[in-house]
Amino acid sequence: MVQQLVDAAHQCFAGVGEGEVADYIPALAAANPDHFGICIAASDGQLVAAGQAEQPFSIQSISKPFLFALICQAIGEDSAKEKLGVNSTGLPFNSVLAVERSGEGLSNPMVNAGAIAATSLAPGDSAEAKWAFIEAGFSRFAGRPLEIDATVYASERVTNQSNVGIATLLSAQERLWFDPEISTDLYTRQCSLSITTRDLALMAATLGNGGRQPVSGDQVVDPVICQHVLAVMVTAGLYETSGDWLYDTGLPGKSGVSGGMITVIPGKGGLATFSPPLDGAGNSVRGQLTAQYLSERLGLNLFASRPAT
Ligand code: GLN
Repeated sequence: MVQQLVDAAHQCFAGVGEGEVADYIPALAAANPDHFGICIAASDGQLVAAGQAEQPFSIQSISKPFLFALICQAIGEDSAKEKLGVNSTGLPFNSVLAVERSGEGLSNPMVNAGAIAATSLAPGDSAEAKWAFIEAGFSRFAGRPLEIDATVYASERVTNQSNVGIATLLSAQERLWFDPEISTDLYTRQCSLSITTRDLALMAATLGNGGRQPVSGDQVVDPVICQHVLAVMVTAGLYETSGDWLYDTGLPGKSGVSGGMITVIPGKGGLATFSPPLDGAGNSVRGQLTAQYLSERLGLNLFASRPAT
């Protein structure tokens, strides 16, 4: 039944022509707007897929929940909350205002400022030590060694001045725990990790499975960490349209500018989609339609409410 619904969603939305492929990172503009992959990973590791679920692309902002999970595990979830902030920003992913508004340099780990600050907290006292921690953690979530997409990394590296600006501002507010340029570079590297829709489904399923990777059985982070990560995904996973998303799906989600999206179904699994055309907030158009379609038909909305029998 799940396979039939996934196939039906693919058929239903493959023809949707709305949205624009991101081009502010020049290498992303080369994405094929017709690529469309869907994959569901159940908590027991079963996979159901349709379309280009094996097409590699850069993880971009979908790295944020996994990075936050790794940092919470490393420094403790209370310390992570206090250092990064967890409130909804209601603002675009690259907003400087999100940092300034709290007055203390806090934002949310699902937007660039909070994610760059989180990156600076990675254990290790050199860029390479921090990178080794990040790369190993992401690979454990995926259940296979992940590598950087060198073309995307090189392209973003020379065009990420606004992220360097955000890191410098955070540093001035004593909300960055490492060098601003190196922290931004590490963040850019992690955004350039190459993954597939299938990888993302398993990574999302790990967050929905108390931190245990469904296929490898690896306990990547503690269950309580996942609970906090899912909460921040709800507050800002789709940035300023996180409310619309929650209203439509009733599930924690996270998008990225390369067109990927994850949706976590706690206790059941993870849904991932890949379709590069984005709406004005930077969220995949077909990804959102697919998540809403499947949430409704599979009865996944966490807020479902019915009279007691
Ligand atoms: N690397 C991208 C950036 O910092 C990630 C943004 C995104 O996916 N929304 O701009």
